[in-house]
Amino acid sequence: MAGILFIISAPSGSGKSTLVSQLRSLVDGLEFSVSTTTRKPRGSEQEGREYHFTSREEFERQVEADEFLEHAEVFGNYYGTARRALTEAERNGKDLLLDIDVQGAGQVRGKMPEAVSIFVMPPTPEVLETRLRNRSRAEGSVDEAVIQRRLDKAKHEIENYRDYSYILVNDVLDHAVEQLAAIVAAERQRHHPGVTTPDSERLTKLAEECRQTK
Ligand code: 5GP
Repeated sequence: MAGILFIISAPSGSGKSTLVSQLRSLVDGLEFSVSTTTRKPRGSEQEGREYHFTSREEFERQVEADEFLEHAEVFGNYYGTARRALTEAERNGKDLLLDIDVQGAGQVRGKMPEAVSIFVMPPTPEVLETRLRNRSRAEGSVDEAVIQRRLDKAKHEIENYRDYSYILVNDVLDHAVEQLAAIVAAERQRHHPGVTTPDSERLTKLAEECRQTK
């Protein structure tokens, strides 16, 4: 795709969802890919907003038809990124953000080595465990086996952090959001030096204002 492909991965318990939603409200020109999943909607999730919810049969049909850029099984459910997300972002002249797990990130990197990948780390193992337990509780699941399975998966995901272009520690939310926005701005300048982007328009204006200041 002509725009930049950003991948963000984080173990559950790293606070990624809040981070991503704040980034989206802060940065222009960034489209968010809505994944397809076979898991059931949670809480206030809506079809087409957080995910496209589908059956295993339909998901498998889409895999057969090669409709996914990547797909993976996470905790017994399928998740996948439709190739269509790339073409739509390109048609709209936008950069694209994929929120996917480490398996999917590996697949995308293999196909599109120019993708910019970001790994979000929890600040400490204790915070990871607390967030994970809180989240499980909020979902109505206090099954210790489920929590342990999630913790093990989180630990396994963290082992892969070196494969990413950037690593970000989600300690203070505002700082992490700022860092994320800075990564997007820096990559835009690197990919399109001299090309007008929402950031560069602002920068050109600022540079001109500074030049005119006596
Ligand atoms: P959740 O069910 O909590 O929304 O997501 C579980 C995990 O699946 C998260 O790590 C999330 O990043 C990952 N995930 C969500 N969408 C996709 C996708 O399209 N592909 C892959 N590989 N992982 C995904």
